[in-house]
This record gives sequence, structure tokens and C-alpha cells, in this order.
Amino acid sequence: MQGPHVLVVEDEEALATLLKYNLEKEGYRVTVAGDGEEALMMAEEAPPDLVLLDWMLPKVPGIEVCRRLRQRSDARNTPIVMLTARGDESDRIRGLDLGADDYVSKPFSVSELMARLRAVLRRIRPALAEDKITVGDISIDRAARRVRRRGGEVHLGPTEFKLLDYLAQHPGRVFSREQLLDAVWGSDVYVEARTVDVHIGRLRKALNKDSDIDPIRTVRSAGYSLDFES
Ligand code: CA
Repeated sequence: MQGPHVLVVEDEEALATLLKYNLEKEGYRVTVAGDGEEALMMAEEAPPDLVLLDWMLPKVPGIEVCRRLRQRSDARNTPIVMLTARGDESDRIRGLDLGADDYVSKPFSVSELMARLRAVLRRIRPALAEDKITVGDISIDRAARRVRRRGGEVHLGPTEFKLLDYLAQHPGRVFSREQLLDAVWGSDVYVEARTVDVHIGRLRKALNKDSDIDPIRTVRSAGYSLDFES
């Protein structure tokens, strides 16, 4: 449940399954949309960290999905990697014009695709691709699962660690309880929204043990964010 969230938009079921399997093996969280309309809906419900977008799609074509995502404030900077038919140069150029970040031609090798996704994420969302990230005075070592604040060790339970890691990937962005539940607990688990408040409380207590600046902002009726600006 830990890695970046990839929305795979692909109508060929066999290929979608193959992509999901390989992405999950690499540590990504994966959701799959089978057509363009579904993709736009899903991207709104749970904003992904990266969109892997097939060009030829039923209902709303890939190029239109790309254009509409770029018009939305919550998806304007989301990395988009297109899957195009081999040699279709004009699609590729139109896609890049409309704001896609990279493209991979079909048929592709899985390892090449994974390398391209990592490269795009590293370029656009460095915090998602790195083992160590720092937000304000908090540093998170993902490989060692350790958190420090102003040099002092912060002891967190596994759920609090995941919550912090997720919030730290998008500092300043407000997440609803439902979004945090999906990201940290998984969308197929039933957990009450109130549970998020309990774990945020624990995270806050651990982080603020030796500091009087609370980096977790509670946004009434909206959710939480990790924020050092306000
Ligand atoms: Ca297709």
C-alpha cells in the first residue's frame, strides 16, 4: 500500500492485467480504468501520482483524457505516460503537445516501461522516487523505515509511518479521510473514517514530542495535510 499510485488506463484486459501485475511487483499501488470516461472519474475520486494512458480507448480517447486532465487543477502536474501504437508519430507529437510527459510505443518490453516510469517520476515527483525525503524539519528514510525530526528519532507505528510517508509525498495538499484510507489501508478494506483521526492523533503526538510547531494541518470537514508553510 506504500508506493506511488498509478492509474492504468487500458481497455485490453490482458495487457491491463500484465501491467497491474508488474507495477505491483515494483511496489506501485495500481488502479485500472477500462475506458476514458472511467479514467476521468477515477482520477477525480483518487488523484493518482502517475497516469499510464493508452491512446486507443473506448468512449473518450486517450488524447482527450490527457487534455481534460491537464485542465484540472488537481491533475495539472500529474505525470502522464502514453502508450501509443508503433510508429504513430503524429499521435505522439499531439500527445506531447497536450502535456503528456513521455510515451512508450507498443509493443514494449516491461522492463523498459518500468524504467521510463521511474525516470518520469524522478523528474516530476522526486519525492516519490527517492528512498529519503525531507519535508520541513522532518526526514523520512523509507528503506530503513526511520523518521527523524530536527535530528531526533521519531518512533512511529507502521500505520503512522505510512500516513506520514503519504502526506509527505504531497506537502501542502489536503487529503480527505477517504483518500487517506484508500492510500494507507487500501480501498478493499473496510475501516471507519474515524480511524484516520485516531492515527493522525498518534502521528501528531509522536512528531511533536520535542517541538511546538505542529506540521499537520487539520482542515475542517475536508481532511489533513502536512504543511510547514502556514
Ligand atoms: Ca487500447
